Amino acid sequence: MRLILLGPPGAGKGTQAKRLMDEHGIPQLSTGDMLRAAVKAETEIGLTAKDIMARGDLVPDDVVVAIVEDRIGNPDCSNGFILDGFPRTVAQAESLETMLRAHGLDLDAVVQLEVDEEALAQRIQRRAAESGEAVREDDTVEALHNRLMVYREQTAPLIEHYKDTGHLVTVDGMQPIDGVTASILAVLQKAKSGQLHAAG
Ligand code: ADP
Repeated sequence: MRLILLGPPGAGKGTQAKRLMDEHGIPQLSTGDMLRAAVKAETEIGLTAKDIMARGDLVPDDVVVAIVEDRIGNPDCSNGFILDGFPRTVAQAESLETMLRAHGLDLDAVVQLEVDEEALAQRIQRRAAESGEAVREDDTVEALHNRLMVYREQTAPLIEHYKDTGHLVTVDGMQPIDGVTASILAVLQKAKSGQLHAAG
């Protein structure tokens, strides 16, 4: 199962990815987590990414594409993976397609978590408050505002892109967490039985 979770910051991609990982036994690949680890370890990539991330801007495509390419070559990805936070631009999506095609692979589905933007700011601020000491540098009001703007401008076009490729399925992300998980699992069941592509 090769899956993308798509949606604005705070939509619940990470939460759902972890649940799907347990359900399907495939790894969650979060480029945000990988980049935060690189920043913490002060690697070359981390040094490049630090200030960009703190502002809520996107790290250059070639940097994240290289990270993902490296990661999906790992043996634990041989049965599939859940991409969380990647691709974030059409160029990243195209690189991913090239990467997968080179291995004779395709995506099973792109799950768009549809959420109310008003609710997002509240969710993220709650996350910042609850995480106590481990507050993310980009969970400030300004960075959040920028992250949403970047999402609208650079990432939202992926919705059309994946509509065109026939991979897009939309799930109501405003349901309780269990409801969202149930909806995603239902959609994946359909994808598995091939109904997704048949239905367009
Ligand atoms: P969010 O909660 O905003 O979805 P993430 O943890 O996915 O946060 O990402 C945090 C930050 O890491 C982004 O704002 C961006 O700076 C950087 N980042 C993560 N994934 C990508 C990507 N695919 N392309 C470019 N930058 C990325």
